[in-house]
Amino acid sequence: MSGVVYPKMAVIGCGLIGSSVIRGARAAGVVGEIAVAEASSQARERIAALGLADSVTDDPAQAVRDADLVVFAVPVMAMGPAAKAAAPGLKAGATITDVGSVKAAVAEALAGAVSDDVFVIPGHPIAGTEQSGPDAGFAELFHNRWIILTPQVRTDAPYGEAVARLTAFWTALGSNVETMDAAHHDLVLAVTSHLPHLIAYNIVGTAADLEEVTQAEVMKYSAGGFRDFTRIAASDPTMWRDVFLTNKEAVLDVLGRFTEDLQALSRAIRWGEGDKLFELFSRTRDIRRGIIAVGQESAEPNFGRDHRPPEDTDTKPQ
Ligand code: NAP
Repeated sequence: MSGVVYPKMAVIGCGLIGSSVIRGARAAGVVGEIAVAEASSQARERIAALGLADSVTDDPAQAVRDADLVVFAVPVMAMGPAAKAAAPGLKAGATITDVGSVKAAVAEALAGAVSDDVFVIPGHPIAGTEQSGPDAGFAELFHNRWIILTPQVRTDAPYGEAVARLTAFWTALGSNVETMDAAHHDLVLAVTSHLPHLIAYNIVGTAADLEEVTQAEVMKYSAGGFRDFTRIAASDPTMWRDVFLTNKEAVLDVLGRFTEDLQALSRAIRWGEGDKLFELFSRTRDIRRGIIAVGQESAEPNFGRDHRPPEDTDTKPQ
């Protein structure tokens, strides 16, 4: 038990990630009072029924009143509007953070929405699932997962203390904390998360559009590889639309490189260059084994899903 880090936490947007932050923070005993502001009336009803928070409202300014920590857990393009709506209720010295999958755009939106007496420390837990909503969250989601903070370039002591406090919070939830420049975060995640999602959406879309293969056949004969892609392609449409629109440059950059590599692969297949295919497939198998070796994936069949809760669309070759 770490002791209370923030006497009052407000969570704005209480779906999969927001409700997991609440569950994890309660389990770790690091927060006192919990307030939620949630736009969806259906989700508000579930939050109340699940007893997730001490108060639930649709008004961010009301939820953040007297809060020491405010966590924005709404889709990336809703971060700025949500922070603007919360701003009148924020107290001086509060820390605001977020869990958005894109950092440069969100950091700018948050900083532009609130006054200078609030500490803005953007963040992104590299943990998630393809599920949405308050019922989908669980306390262990962040265990042994990375949380990347992208603090502002500031050298004053109070800001440093606010970053240390937020680091203590995430550590108590079981996460490993890393700090990084926001633009670098967006490039890394474009490779490890955003591009894989785009590929999954594209593969499942292509299969669904193939006229010679009926949709019934796609479902009936879906092999393991295709099924894994359909899991990723089931991820929340709003969340992922926002990710691609706000991390446009980095995604287009890695997509260009990916397209070139794909062309090289089609050439190798066309010309029967088995050694090239074999060399690539051996290297990629080593990468998978490396991910298992650092504890970010299970070596069990079916990703170990038969034995534990679903994890992490945000880190798996997702
Ligand atoms: P989610 O389950 O859909 O929850 C988001 C909730 O926020 C929804 O209930 C939504 O209501 C509500 N909302 C939207 N705009 C709002 C506003 N202005 N004020 C208050 N509530 C609002 O989404 P999630 O998967 O938790 O994702 C939340 C954030 O976490 C996103 O920024 C995403 O990039 C990031 N993230 C997700 C994952 C993942 O694997 N899912 C992993 C890491 C980070 P409506 O449904 O009515 O819009």
